[in-house]
Amino acid sequence: MSKRDYYDVLGVSRTAEVTEIKTAYRKLAIKYHPDKNPGDKEAEDKFKEAAEAYEILSNAEKRRRYDQFGHSGNSASGYGGGGMNMEDIFSQFGDIFGGGNPFESFFGGGGGGQRGGRRVQRGTNLRIKVKLTLEEIAKGVEKKVKVNKKVKCSTCDGSGAKDKNSYHTCNTCGGSGAVRRVTNTILGQMQTTSTCPTCNGEGVEITAKCTSCKGEGLVNGEETISINIPAGVSEGMQLSMSGKGNAAPRGGIPGDLIILVEEVPHETLKRDGINVIYDLYVNFADAALGTSVEIPTIDGKAKIKIEPGTQGGKILRLKGKGVPEVNSYHKGDQLVYVNVWTPKTVSKEEKELLEKLKGSANFKPQPGKSEKSFFERIKEYFE
Ligand SMILES: [Zn+2]
Ligand SMILES: [Zn+2]
Repeated sequence: MSKRDYYDVLGVSRTAEVTEIKTAYRKLAIKYHPDKNPGDKEAEDKFKEAAEAYEILSNAEKRRRYDQFGHSGNSASGYGGGGMNMEDIFSQFGDIFGGGNPFESFFGGGGGGQRGGRRVQRGTNLRIKVKLTLEEIAKGVEKKVKVNKKVKCSTCDGSGAKDKNSYHTCNTCGGSGAVRRVTNTILGQMQTTSTCPTCNGEGVEITAKCTSCKGEGLVNGEETISINIPAGVSEGMQLSMSGKGNAAPRGGIPGDLIILVEEVPHETLKRDGINVIYDLYVNFADAALGTSVEIPTIDGKAKIKIEPGTQGGKILRLKGKGVPEVNSYHKGDQLVYVNVWTPKTVSKEEKELLEKLKGSANFKPQPGKSEKSFFERIKEYFE
């Protein structure tokens, strides 16, 4: 993997002053910091790349070697190959951010960072089920659903405190929500931060609780939420609406609303993936003489023609009358399975007529080469 030019990485010119390099790195370090991009591998790589570029360009001797020999100029330093590890990078911060952990002031209360900073509470996710008809699934639908959920307590405005005199900045952590500890390791002194045990990371201690919410900052409430269901969803699929779940106390981030899709079976149509199947029964006379019949579709009734001499088992296709794929223009078809209905009981007169017809040469099954086998028919329609 070839490395990018360090100047390009930081977005500075080759004649940039050290202060300019510092500012450029500072911006990138904040943007790609792992606390802000949890689990994002690309951000992590960018974070490391910027740290490495800064490590070289901020040092006059290393920068001179880099300008002269390129990346190989500093390979002996250990950064030519595998890059920097996170410990190296964080130890660099004292330099550019002027001591302490800069992310407390940058992200405090915002990022929910584990590396110090006030802990932001997150509301829990809320799960609901939504029943959808085949028609709704085929076209997509907006559903208005009333959900019972935790909402912000209006008495205390979500703070959980009785009044404005009943809370104060946490004495243990000074309001930062985190406590620092210095430990000695073989690499020297290391500073670690952890959540403040007194205030549980909130930075505030409450001395008298709000009576409406018992200090929780939340009460039971309800909200009517309008949910846009895209066309093509299917049974068991989960949709998620960010921030529509339970509220979080003390100005935290609300949870998500998770919507579980349930399909209501259709009376006459059966869904098979993106296709819709309809079992049509015609009587023997109509199959022999031909007819036109009205059948149900997702869009209402439709008339289809049955050609004279239609065999049972024929599959007719109504193009585009199926269900769309989610987030796609691709749409399935309606498949009409033609079944020839054989009467289960016959009257005396009918029996006599049938006996007469039975002997006719035309009634003797004579499957020709043009007749497709059942498997051929199925294959043709599902390929
Ligand atoms: Zn309250
Ligand atoms: Zn505290």
